[in-house]
Amino acid sequence: MLIDRMPHFILFVFSVLLSVTASAKVAPHNLHASILQYHHVSRHTPAVTSVSPEQFSEHMQYIAEHHTVLPLPELVKRLKKGEVLPENAVAITFDDGFQNILENAHPILTRHGFNYTVFINPALIGKEPQQLTWDEVRQMQREGVWFANHTDDHAHLLDRKGMSEAQWLAALKNALEQAEETLQQQLGYSLKYLAYPYGEYNSAIQALLREMGYIGFAQQSGAAAPYSDFTALPRYPSAGIYANLNTLKVKLSSLAMPVLSEPINPELHYHHRTPRWTTRIDLTDIRPAQLSCYFKGQPLAPEWVTADSFELHITTPLKPGRSRVNCTAPSKRSPGRYYWHSQPFFVATQDGKWLD
Ligand SMILES: [Zn+2]
Repeated sequence: MLIDRMPHFILFVFSVLLSVTASAKVAPHNLHASILQYHHVSRHTPAVTSVSPEQFSEHMQYIAEHHTVLPLPELVKRLKKGEVLPENAVAITFDDGFQNILENAHPILTRHGFNYTVFINPALIGKEPQQLTWDEVRQMQREGVWFANHTDDHAHLLDRKGMSEAQWLAALKNALEQAEETLQQQLGYSLKYLAYPYGEYNSAIQALLREMGYIGFAQQSGAAAPYSDFTALPRYPSAGIYANLNTLKVKLSSLAMPVLSEPINPELHYHHRTPRWTTRIDLTDIRPAQLSCYFKGQPLAPEWVTADSFELHITTPLKPGRSRVNCTAPSKRSPGRYYWHSQPFFVATQDGKWLD
């Protein structure tokens, strides 16, 4: 269908013309939201995926004072419809279903009255000492917590395991449906949300999710808006080096970059690891000269190839694993708020292994 191939931003403009013309007073920035991603809330777990209970409490206190927390299903529904959101809307998510979410995060979230969502591996629940049990999951469900699919086994989705592309995609579809079926049986609902293990996906997986009616959640940074790609909604990792509240504040109030071009395939072949790509953005609220891009903390100069398109080129081959290029630009209309876009890349090792 033609509509499937239209850039998300154009579709969004159409839907806004149809649905929100009613109010000229609506600030377009009320259509943006940030989704936070946590794993462990503990002092005794791997630093890179953990925040301490004190840090987490500090994040939540800041959110209580400056933001409005929406349940993820409500946020997604409203984003998809292009509905106006509360000012500074945010959703809170956890991946992996660890016990310490219930022990350390749940009391803090409950105290603030914050709804949240946990992406779990249904086949691992109650099977490993660090994992929540189904009884605990149901107890949390009764207290308003949402649960969604993070695959049964947390394997790398891009690992073909020797299968053909068609076999691999068919196996993926089966595995997803099986995990979702367990969620349905245990919880009585199925959101059809998938958080990609390790944040890894490619264009074929995105097409599969679209066909299956799933929403995909990624791990690259950026805000979400009605024109976002709903097969790879960005989330801000908020643990480890990203737990710093001062940088998190900027992310919490960020805006989704209005990208007009089609997304590129984030999976790169080992022998093609120096990507060069072009991104077209709507410049209504952005000054091209203020667009900054970064790779591994270093500036990566955007080269403007047309009035609204810029090219980026990584000249040193990407290391196997996960990489991200972030681009930000201040909003002309809202001082202090930044448009944010992150392009992830995923590369297997030369012998086809995917790194944890
Ligand atoms: Zn995970």
